[in-house]
Amino acid sequence: MLELEKMDIHIESVMELIKKYQSGISSGRVLPKASRREMEDLLFEEMPIQGKDAEAVIEEFADKIIPNSTKVGSARFLSWIITSPSQAGILGEMANIGLSQAPFLFKAGPAATVIEDMIINWIKGIFDFPEGAGGILVSGGSVSTLTALGAAREAMFPGVTENGMHSLEKPLALYTSKKAHASIDKAIGALGFGKKMLRKIGVDSQYRIDPKELEESIIKDRQNGCMPFCIIAQAGTSVAGAVDDIQRLSEIAKKYGLWLHVDGAYGGGAILTTKGKELLRGIQEADSISVDPHKWFFIPPEAGCVLLKDRRHLYNAYRMGQDEYNPKTPVEFVNYGIQSTRMSRAIKIWFAFKIYGTQTLAAAIEKNIELAKAFHEGLADIKGVSRLNNPMTSAVCFSFEGGQEENEGFLRYIEEEFFLSPAVLGGKHCIRACFSNYRTKKGHVEELLELIREFKRS
Ligand SMILES: *Cc1c(COP(=O)(O)O)cnc(C)c1O
Repeated sequence: MLELEKMDIHIESVMELIKKYQSGISSGRVLPKASRREMEDLLFEEMPIQGKDAEAVIEEFADKIIPNSTKVGSARFLSWIITSPSQAGILGEMANIGLSQAPFLFKAGPAATVIEDMIINWIKGIFDFPEGAGGILVSGGSVSTLTALGAAREAMFPGVTENGMHSLEKPLALYTSKKAHASIDKAIGALGFGKKMLRKIGVDSQYRIDPKELEESIIKDRQNGCMPFCIIAQAGTSVAGAVDDIQRLSEIAKKYGLWLHVDGAYGGGAILTTKGKELLRGIQEADSISVDPHKWFFIPPEAGCVLLKDRRHLYNAYRMGQDEYNPKTPVEFVNYGIQSTRMSRAIKIWFAFKIYGTQTLAAAIEKNIELAKAFHEGLADIKGVSRLNNPMTSAVCFSFEGGQEENEGFLRYIEEEFFLSPAVLGGKHCIRACFSNYRTKKGHVEELLELIREFKRS
């Protein structure tokens, strides 16, 4: 009943559209011109009771949906940290959807399960995690941190998953920098720690956590009847791309007996590069790491990864049955995370890693870092523009002297050419250019700098 008679033709029609979209991705506006209202007028309709011809629907997709989508892969997309999905990753995702595996159990996705196991091994290898480490692919950094903190809680307070938070004697306190991503608050809220128990520690001039203030806060909590539990280090803050001194934080975590989680959703991918290895020094000491393959491994969303230094903690928090952890039992991913039915996120990563090799991925990350540096240097010569950070990764924050109003004016001024996002850093409104797109070249940086000069003259 649900078979389409001309499925072969439809696959080709869709592929044709994708081919065209991909080859023209860097030309024209990044953001569609239509307003939300106009799109609602165009797209809203009654739920269909009777279907219609698939080719007609594909045509509608071409006419109404493609032109009203953001060209995330465009060389001129410099917003947020949505990296341009790599072409190999896209191939992998298309193949993956064709297969539609559900590797929560081996039998629901045999090869997909084995490949996920292998990819987790690859990723734990690049972070120098030991033999007993493990992890799971999830939707992204948000769920990755949620998954890690749930496992950390069970690791530190065995039985809490069963007995609930009220079984603990004292409230648990967590620590991260003021610049941490909002997904950490969400995870802490969802897990029932209470958002108020997240201590947001001050930062230095480069937006890295102040280790002294962190220690003082831990000591104070101890004195006040709280139980310090976990430090969440930032490896690439989402606004300024700042990387905390992870080595130092691991020493503090050990000194006070705390769990160390590293939020490397954005910056974790830099581990593939020489500069990244330096920046992330000490990350192998972490108890858990979040890293998003859909950020700096250029995989199409969704693809997040959570790694635990000791795989058993994921199992103890998320197992389905009552069986005790056995390191020799092959992984069934349903026991290592929150989801049951789940897509394979491994197949697209498998495609990308095999087609490019880590060498090519590393070169793309290095290029992003270089462009950020070049842009930051170029800004130095422009009067009336101030630079708010010295980029450690690939995000550059700057502001016109006229503040928010002038910044917004500039974003409108360049909207036909580039898409950048407004941000707030150190209490100041700014514009953020994040270089996380492998199609962006030196010429685009020069063009953007020229637009800034032109805007200042106008
Ligand atoms: C993007 C990001 C997150 C959230 O990850 P999602 O993949 O969007 O869920 C968390 N932390 C940091 C530092 C990020 O950059």
